[in-house]
Amino acid sequence: MTTTRRTFLGAGAAALAHAMIARMADAQTAPTSAGPADPALIDDLVAANRILADQGVVDGYGHVSVRHPADPQRYLMSRSIAPETVTAADIMEYDLDSTAVDARGRTSYLERFIHGEIYRARPDVKSVVHNHSPSVIPFGVTTVPLRPLYHMSAFLGGGVPIYDIKAAAGGPTDMLVRNAALGRALAQTIGARPVALMRGHGAVVVGPSIQIAVFRSVYTEMNARLQAQAMALGGPVTYLDDEEARLAGGSVGGTVVRPWDLWRKKALGR
Ligand SMILES: [Zn+2]
Repeated sequence: MTTTRRTFLGAGAAALAHAMIARMADAQTAPTSAGPADPALIDDLVAANRILADQGVVDGYGHVSVRHPADPQRYLMSRSIAPETVTAADIMEYDLDSTAVDARGRTSYLERFIHGEIYRARPDVKSVVHNHSPSVIPFGVTTVPLRPLYHMSAFLGGGVPIYDIKAAAGGPTDMLVRNAALGRALAQTIGARPVALMRGHGAVVVGPSIQIAVFRSVYTEMNARLQAQAMALGGPVTYLDDEEARLAGGSVGGTVVRPWDLWRKKALGR
């Protein structure tokens, strides 16, 4: 009887010790928080999710993030839900390995490595959008390059690289950027550019602010649609030349707040 009782207590103590060690290991591996971000920035991130959905850039899929203003090694992004439904309570914090700081049972986007690896490679980038924007898809799977057709998409001047995940992975995959190595390869593909297409998948768009990343996402979709229309009319198409793209990019770049305010009102006012 005594022996049985002692055995029982021993097993309980061992389980308790095991749980404590696991918790300590968790505390050691979970990244520390950079602290709460400005609520206005969280509002902008929520608005970005709603705008991208309202403008047809994302649907049930796609995501947008912002670098944490207090720590360049952290970024903020919604838990894994449709962008149109995102609220401030859904925003999570990640380190650049794309490990959640405080998951609390919330699930993360599978392709979050796109964000972490681009923030790591590009100190200038403050916001990243990943989307499956429908009109850009054909330009990722054909030999027709996506080029700036009008002043609103002047940022496409200088070329739009294409990420081929099969080359990055060394063989066929499920097409998803589901680990850091694939994210790093994508960061290498985009290089210093604002947009990269992803063959058979979508696009990644970056910017020095949420507003600019959203602006570029909307006008990349628009340019792709217009370019396909122009090409369908037949005959040669005249694109912005490099100098026009540079000049127009400078002029239009200063006005992004105007469509942002409009889109925000439309997307949040419903
Ligand atoms: Zn995707």
